Amino acid sequence: MIRREEMTLWQRLYVGEVLRGLLLTSGDLVRHLWRFLLNAAGVRTKQRPWATLEYPDEQRPYAGRFRARHRLTLKPDGSVRCTACFLCATACPAKCIYIEPAEHEDPRIEKFPARYEIDTLLCIYCGYCVEACPVDAIRMDTGIHPEIYPADPRTFIEDKETLMMRSRVLEDAGPAALQQEHRARMKRMEIEPFSDQA
Ligand code: SF4
Ligand code: SF4
Repeated sequence: MIRREEMTLWQRLYVGEVLRGLLLTSGDLVRHLWRFLLNAAGVRTKQRPWATLEYPDEQRPYAGRFRARHRLTLKPDGSVRCTACFLCATACPAKCIYIEPAEHEDPRIEKFPARYEIDTLLCIYCGYCVEACPVDAIRMDTGIHPEIYPADPRTFIEDKETLMMRSRVLEDAGPAALQQEHRARMKRMEIEPFSDQA
């Protein structure tokens, strides 16, 4: 248990501490305003005058362990690696993975997911599905975060093709292309909200 520290007489007088707080806050305000004015006048300062970024034109670099939107990985022939074993769906605490298995025409392959969907509105991006997969068929290394969709909850469901397409773009053009695509979509949405999902 952490005991509360005893307050000094000065702190118990209250007014002094209020003044100290006001001084601190107004000091910060003046400092930031000064930096902003210098920047607006074209004088470059070491620190940015504001903490916000002009997303999607600018983006903060994400940590390597950032759990981004999912993708389904592919075999060398371009088919889905997933074997429809249901381990990811079983491990998912949000119960947002839906799989419909089907028999494969190749007798050497037991089954594959005819349908694989993730309801990203329910997903909590915990990464348990990735941990549970025994064949590295699902990953969260796309580097892109969820987008804003219209109020219709069905638009949040990502199907097998969407999840596989991310792997194709990653393999063919690299993570920068996926990131660029995502940011271009966000930019379009800024100008014309939800035109992509109409
Ligand atoms: S990240 Fe977590 S909540 Fe989202 S699909 Fe995977 S297991 Fe489910
Ligand atoms: S993604 Fe992995 S864990 Fe999930 S069904 Fe496919 S093979 Fe199994």
